[in-house]
Amino acid sequence: DGVLYVVATPIGNLDDLSDRARQTLAKVDLVAAEDTRHSGRLLQHLGLSKQMLALHDHNERARVAGILDALAAGRQVALVSDAGTPLISDPGYLLVREVRAAGYRVSPVPGPCALVAALSVAGLPTDRFLFAGFLPAKRSGRQAALTELAREPATLVFYESPHRIIEFMKDLAEVLGADRECVLGRELTKTFETFYSGRADEVLEQLESDPHGARGEFVVMVRGAAPTPAGEASVLDTDKLLELLIKELP
Ligand code: SAM
Repeated sequence: DGVLYVVATPIGNLDDLSDRARQTLAKVDLVAAEDTRHSGRLLQHLGLSKQMLALHDHNERARVAGILDALAAGRQVALVSDAGTPLISDPGYLLVREVRAAGYRVSPVPGPCALVAALSVAGLPTDRFLFAGFLPAKRSGRQAALTELAREPATLVFYESPHRIIEFMKDLAEVLGADRECVLGRELTKTFETFYSGRADEVLEQLESDPHGARGEFVVMVRGAAPTPAGEASVLDTDKLLELLIKELP
């Protein structure tokens, strides 16, 4: 029977592709990729030529039927995204869900993942963490999302793009507090891999004064909230949240 392999690919350094990822990509009949041009270059680098299928957020539902047909015909399929582990802030959720529901085997070929790589070197608690991915692009939505997380005791992990990182850090300092400990990982595994760490306001300053600070891809990690002193309500600031949500209304 057909198998769907969910294959992690490098987040920057091509040498991070595992042998098993290479072998899996070599043996499958079909590669479902977020961007076929991008993943096509990876396959080319590996000397492979494969039938490919584009699977992105906008066509995932429509593509699932075709992949189920391929699996029914006994074909082996790999799912890859542009970088790192599929489904982690990347397409594939619906596909994996439907393929499992149809009774086919879905097997991981683990490897690079920016959030795990970043956490492994941040020196923040990792016994509990909350991955929040990308927050909304609009300021009010982002602030509302941060407000919901303000009292979360677990380490927080976010993804952010270079053109929003400064705004993100400003909102973070405002909502979670300027003294909240943060660690930012930029361009992990790449030539210009950089870390910024300190209080939120200090990290913001480091970013603003670094000529390359607003370039590259970021993982933002934040120490969880200190336990609320006994007697104080540990509920989230509902008034602030409501105010922000009202601003989101059309
Ligand atoms: N699936 C990927 C993974 O496993 O990490 C994440 C895909 S998501 C669309 C892309 C985001 O991941 C970037 O905006 C950035 O926040 C983060 N990211 C990916 N590669 C990175 C790197 N080399 N250094 C820092 N952050 C990275």
